[in-house]
Amino acid sequence: MPLEPKSVLDLATALAYVKGVGPARAAMLGAKGLDTVEDLLHYFPFRYEDRSNLKTISQLAPGELATVIAEVRSAKVSGFRRRNLGLFEAEFTDSSHAILRGKWFHGAYLANRLTPGTRVALFGKIEFDSWRGDLQIMHPETEFLGGEDEDGDSALADSAIHLGRIVPIYEAAGKISARVLRALLHRILQEIAPLEDRLPEAIRTHLRFPSRTEAVREAHFPSAGTPIRILNDFRSAAQFRLIFEEFFWLECGLEIKRRRAQAMPGIEFALSDRVREQIKKLLPFKPTNAQKRVLKEIAGDMSRPSPMNRLLQGDVGSGKTIVAAEAAVIAVENGYQVVILAPTEILAAQHYYSLKPLLHKLGYPVALLTGSSTAREKAKLKEMLRNGLLPVAIGTHALIEKDVEFAKLGLVIIDEQHRFGVMQRFRLVQKGVTPDVLVMTATPIPRTLAMTLYGDLDVSVIDELPPGRRKIVTKHFTADQVELAYSAIRREIDAGRQAYVVYPVIEESETQATQAMKAAEKMFDHLSREVFPDIAVGLLHGRLGTAEKEAAMEAFKSGRTKILVSTTVIEVGVDVANATLMVVEQAERFGLSQLHQLRGRVGRGAQQSYCLLITEKMNETAKERVRTLVDSQDGFAIAEMDLKLRGPGEFFGTKQSGLPTLKIANILRDPDILSAARHEARAFVEHPPSQEAFLAAVEYIRNHWQRRYGLVQVG
Ligand code: ADP
Ligand code: MG
Repeated sequence: MPLEPKSVLDLATALAYVKGVGPARAAMLGAKGLDTVEDLLHYFPFRYEDRSNLKTISQLAPGELATVIAEVRSAKVSGFRRRNLGLFEAEFTDSSHAILRGKWFHGAYLANRLTPGTRVALFGKIEFDSWRGDLQIMHPETEFLGGEDEDGDSALADSAIHLGRIVPIYEAAGKISARVLRALLHRILQEIAPLEDRLPEAIRTHLRFPSRTEAVREAHFPSAGTPIRILNDFRSAAQFRLIFEEFFWLECGLEIKRRRAQAMPGIEFALSDRVREQIKKLLPFKPTNAQKRVLKEIAGDMSRPSPMNRLLQGDVGSGKTIVAAEAAVIAVENGYQVVILAPTEILAAQHYYSLKPLLHKLGYPVALLTGSSTAREKAKLKEMLRNGLLPVAIGTHALIEKDVEFAKLGLVIIDEQHRFGVMQRFRLVQKGVTPDVLVMTATPIPRTLAMTLYGDLDVSVIDELPPGRRKIVTKHFTADQVELAYSAIRREIDAGRQAYVVYPVIEESETQATQAMKAAEKMFDHLSREVFPDIAVGLLHGRLGTAEKEAAMEAFKSGRTKILVSTTVIEVGVDVANATLMVVEQAERFGLSQLHQLRGRVGRGAQQSYCLLITEKMNETAKERVRTLVDSQDGFAIAEMDLKLRGPGEFFGTKQSGLPTLKIANILRDPDILSAARHEARAFVEHPPSQEAFLAAVEYIRNHWQRRYGLVQVG
């Protein structure tokens, strides 16, 4: 008898070579980022179903969750078939000869699959149809039990994998169903060699983790008797280990990165009496306790020899600007240059206008350098930066990526507002010493996320608003009530105040910018000609040149224009205390954090301010967003809710975010495991069991995790 070579799959084997995959499926898997056996092994189910409760139809009782294997006896579509809205009904029967009715709304598409004689497994809740007096099952999980799968691969149809057990449910990959994925994983798990266990021995023993091989196997195909609720909470021993492990390597990477950054030679800024005096001179008001505390943390970092890497979080309006200015004073008084970077030109200009008067009091020259400065201006400013004649430069990120040289750069302040990830990709090219870095953000990032996203930064939080702020009254109007918003505008303007009217197009692309411009221009025409012909209305959008933008902002700031019609370019940065009303059109199209940012443009003075959200069509999450804003003004609560409604990926806007894509861990669901993993990771990096173990870990992170977690640039 010829010996069949036992095929052992390698982790690196391309999925195209796995039996049952083939080129078409390999392409669909590839589109999901699944190229190798290892990738698929890390494609974990998002949910589990207990199909061990396998019954015949006659054994079923209303109210229970059960799996039935049955055959279609008859089927029909009723209702509006033409529009594909029909109710699809199929009668099933099995060896017990009893009848179960399956119902699917919008189920017409099933008509040519659930034909009489077709054998299926149905899983779902059994209900009693009191109208007919028999049992029914609505929208059951349905699996076709043909003898073979579409590719003629009978193993994929092996019902022992899909029935009579706890089954994993995977997110479909293209046209590859959960069922096919389940069969593929089952096969791979049978043929794979034991997996290497990289987690440090001491941690494995201490936390009594199952082996990596066992954990992966159990996470895909849990043993009989594992409580389904624990599985769906992702807290089985296997799941816990895998989640822990994922966080552990991520946190190790961040910790190593943090330590490397700290080990760089930095600047030891002196906090002399002169510095203190200058800071005092700068302050136009009494700082809040939070501002004082945060400045102390920053000054502490700056006076240490290692480079500062600090994140300053503060809700919109909490007063981050003055803290940034104070840090700048420390650097400039020590003879260093400061560069302040903002994500947009408008925001850079805004920083320039709010910082210039403050810093001029101390006699510091300040310059604004953006993409739309003229070539001559740019050349002149670059020359001054190179010669050390310009202590403070403010600009967009483009400023630093270009060929700008500094005589003596000491401090980089990056205002990210709620755009994340720039920091990670930001490379400061400078010879010699590393400047201090302060990143500011207005989105209060939930703590767990901050830990992951900015795990290599120290964090300061301004958790107190300047005194005398009143709650911004937030109201919701539907589009047909827009007149109410207009009369509110008139009321505020009659009382000597100003108002913003904002349009919801986010100008990330050229087309969007053009769209936004058109919408804003149309609104501008409507408001300035028809609604408020007697009131000066201004217009601001991303398509204007720098000079025009500045002119529009200046006119509004000085009160020459009373209403500013704008696209979301004003979402960050404009600071006009006399503006007390914010009208947001089509508010349903904005994200929660963004609406909160927009609202933060008002309520900057002592007057009562208002935010009116006007909506057209709203789905459930849009309603939830509006409700949250009407009820709350707490940036943290709002950010948490935003995260919940959108999920971490979208919260930060996909690729831009720098947020690592986790395979099984979930920052929202698993903050407890994250803390534990972080604790162990820090301890491991600080006191590795041996030099070899440490180097092996660095090597492992570099090879296996850097690709997945772009932010972990180790070594
Ligand atoms: P953000 O954190 O959003 O950048 P800003 O720095 O723009 O906030 O501050 C918002 C407004 O509050 C500004 O008009 C600023 O002058 C004012 N402000 C900041 N701190 C204080 C304070 N301690 N007392 C009074 N007003 C303050
Ligand atoms: Mg600000």
